[in-house]
Amino acid sequence: MKTELVKIEEDNIDEKALEAIERAGKIMKEGGLVAFPTETVYGLGGDALNPESSKKIYAAKGRPSDNPLIVHVCCMEDVEKIVSEVPEAAYKLADAFWPGPLTMIMNKSDAVPKETTGGLDTVAIRMPSNKIAAQLIKAEGGYIAAPSANISGRPSPTVAKYCVEDLDGKIEMIIDGGQVGIGLESTIVDLTVDTPMILRPGYITFEMLQNVLGSVDVDKTIIDANSKLKPKAPGMKYRHYAPKGELTIVEGSQQNVVEYINKEAKSYMNEGKRVGIICTDATFDLYKADEVKSAGNRENEETIAKQLFKILREFDDENVDVMFSESFDESGIGQAIMNRLLKAAGHHVEHV
Ligand code: AMP
Ligand code: MG
Repeated sequence: MKTELVKIEEDNIDEKALEAIERAGKIMKEGGLVAFPTETVYGLGGDALNPESSKKIYAAKGRPSDNPLIVHVCCMEDVEKIVSEVPEAAYKLADAFWPGPLTMIMNKSDAVPKETTGGLDTVAIRMPSNKIAAQLIKAEGGYIAAPSANISGRPSPTVAKYCVEDLDGKIEMIIDGGQVGIGLESTIVDLTVDTPMILRPGYITFEMLQNVLGSVDVDKTIIDANSKLKPKAPGMKYRHYAPKGELTIVEGSQQNVVEYINKEAKSYMNEGKRVGIICTDATFDLYKADEVKSAGNRENEETIAKQLFKILREFDDENVDVMFSESFDESGIGQAIMNRLLKAAGHHVEHV
């Protein structure tokens, strides 16, 4: 299959861009797949109400079929049609955070096929704020199932180049809308339980949800690396975000971390291995390795969220064999950053 690549600027959706978005919507309505930008990461979209489209999404990504897809909508009225009932909390959260990087789990209606929900009776729903995504959902007819647009297990794409790398030749179209704004997948909150529960941390933090809802629980498997419990979001049990080389997170005082990483890096480089380091602006000049990349500024952890997956992908491009990363504070968006980083590292952490 030939994959068409279309460039669209989110802040300049002109006639030509609208025409391409209409075409992309039609492709999905007719059962095809389109990768497109959202504010979190790039999504691989198909008609959420068509079981054949969902099957194609799983096949293109090599995704296990018990890992349900998030349904993307562009208005609240459309939510009502795909759930058995909209809980009060959903209206409150939608008021506060939609359109935006929050996914809510609700009980599904018969309109949603089980192929889309990985066999579950619940459905994950999000209203993205990216303007290209919003127009595209309208053009498609209202319901786009869209997991991240990467081969299963690899870091989620935050630029179109990595959608091309993973999906070229397998889907009808890729819309290049530049680098995404947030860089980590949405926060997932389950509203089918008495106290809403965070199943995946993201840009919308525990504190932000608590402010709106009063009380919020967190799925323990997110925090406890050694938990024997099964995560409530089926996808969270899989190895994720994995770069091709070995990644180790190093935790400790700044001085100890820098000394440890430099010593390890030197010894690996002596063995002929290529070494990559993920650090921050404050420590960038202190490291010596083949590839040293600052993820951003610790005072503004959003910069780190935005760069993290991109850096992991770049290390793959640069054939890095061994990687070390500094560790991040787990408050606010730091919880989401560490959740992704720990998964990428297969939970390999050195305390120094
Ligand atoms: P992705 O779109 O690739 O970011 O993955 C979607 C995530 O949402 C996966 O971790 C899924 O397991 C989770 N998810 C989707 N639908 C549900 C659902 N109905 N219940 C629980 N988790 C879900
Ligand atoms: Mg994903």
